[in-house]
Amino acid sequence: MKGRYDILLIGGGIIGSSIAMSLADKKGGKIAILDPDLSGIYSSSENNAGGVRATWWDEVNINLSLHSIKFFEKIAEDVGFRQDGYLWLHGSDTWRKAETMIAFQNRFGLNIEDLSPADITKRIPEIDNISDIAGATFSPMDGLINPNLLRNYYRKIAAERGVEFLDRMLVKRIILMDKRVIGVECARLAEPDENILEEILKSGRPYGHYTNEMYGCNILINTGGAWAPEIARMYGSDLPSHPLRRQVSVTHSPDVDLSGCGMIVDTSGLYFHPEAGNILAGYSIPNEPPGYNFKYDGYDFFLKEIWPRLYNRISRLERLRHIRGWAGLYEVSKDKSAIIGRVSGLDNVYEAHSFSGRGVMQSYAAGLALAELIIDGRYLTVDLTPLSGNRFKEGREMPEVLHI
Ligand SMILES: Cc1cc2nc3c(=O)[nH]c(=O)nc-3n(C[C@H](O)[C@H](O)[C@H](O)COP(=O)(O)OP(=O)(O)OC[C@H]3O[C@@H](n4cnc5c(N)ncnc54)[C@H](O)[C@@H]3O)c2cc1C
Repeated sequence: MKGRYDILLIGGGIIGSSIAMSLADKKGGKIAILDPDLSGIYSSSENNAGGVRATWWDEVNINLSLHSIKFFEKIAEDVGFRQDGYLWLHGSDTWRKAETMIAFQNRFGLNIEDLSPADITKRIPEIDNISDIAGATFSPMDGLINPNLLRNYYRKIAAERGVEFLDRMLVKRIILMDKRVIGVECARLAEPDENILEEILKSGRPYGHYTNEMYGCNILINTGGAWAPEIARMYGSDLPSHPLRRQVSVTHSPDVDLSGCGMIVDTSGLYFHPEAGNILAGYSIPNEPPGYNFKYDGYDFFLKEIWPRLYNRISRLERLRHIRGWAGLYEVSKDKSAIIGRVSGLDNVYEAHSFSGRGVMQSYAAGLALAELIIDGRYLTVDLTPLSGNRFKEGREMPEVLHI
């Protein structure tokens, strides 16, 4: 046995790092995070769009984001949090429902505004085609964050409080005794290059040079993001969740400056926001097959999915240039909300994953709440009982409609 810990987390992305910070704050004992690549080049925490919103239709999702936003406000400068809002454009198919939800959302103090098509052009004159827009919501508390700075913030505080970050560690076996996990077997990878790392993360198997190491634990937490289903299989659970490729393009227009705007969500499903003088835009291709696919389709993706949608909304984006882009993984659950809590059937295993495209914006409250459940024995800040993995077996699914 190489080492023994009170708590081991499998996966050191933004979620694992946040949970570790809160656990350490609550003096959770000797804590370590295992990850084959803490720099996270293929992780979702590295490859997302940095959007933060409490604009959801389900109460638990609003609460998770809202409590996180309150925390981000306190550390805004450290993590590049800008509350420039979310402007959400609706066609006639979704506007009626969206408009009726504003009163419900505002009960949480979100101050969401109800905008007519004319209000939209007044607010953002660059948007010059409103012919298919029935209305929009503008949520001033929402905005954009730098996910790398946020993950590093969690890690820094966690490390200061004694959490150990064990890099190059791929968990390949979880050792069970009765209804308890007693340890894990890892492959310690010898500095894999990017291509080998991609193969490892596609297959879940170690390649290249590695040695085996065992670590004991009293409590195990699955924070494996899009790899959570593979990790859950190692302790005998079948998760209703899968990895799904999502692509983002960085573009530049000499004619349009959107600085000062927050996130804009188009009726077509396209989302975009200003990014250091450029425009970052993402679109979720319907019927994308599940799997560990990190390939960015490049200029073809930009030309087919991004440019026509942007140009349709802002005609001055005719001369839009493709700069670069990337693909990352969403970890999508069956009802498109996160799975958080104790794993049923096992005494000492917990999980926090399947955020379905919102792990960054919910990371702080999710981490704090799970730490409360583990250390205090119950949720104190936000009641995440509705998000427990049991809900699928118990027929308590809670579909979140407003997901992109
Ligand atoms: C294109 C795109 C846009 C997005 N936009 C937003 C957005 O605007 N706002 C938002 O809030 N969210 C967004 N998301 C979602 C968000 O990025 C994720 O929900 C979040 O990063 C999940 O964090 P995580 O820590 O759970 O997963 P990850 O960051 O993926 O971390 C999981 C870690 O587990 C490790 N791991 C895997 N297998 C093993 C193993 N066997 N042993 C040990 N470790 C292992 C991996 O190496 C990885 O580092 C977006 C995602 C994508 C792809």
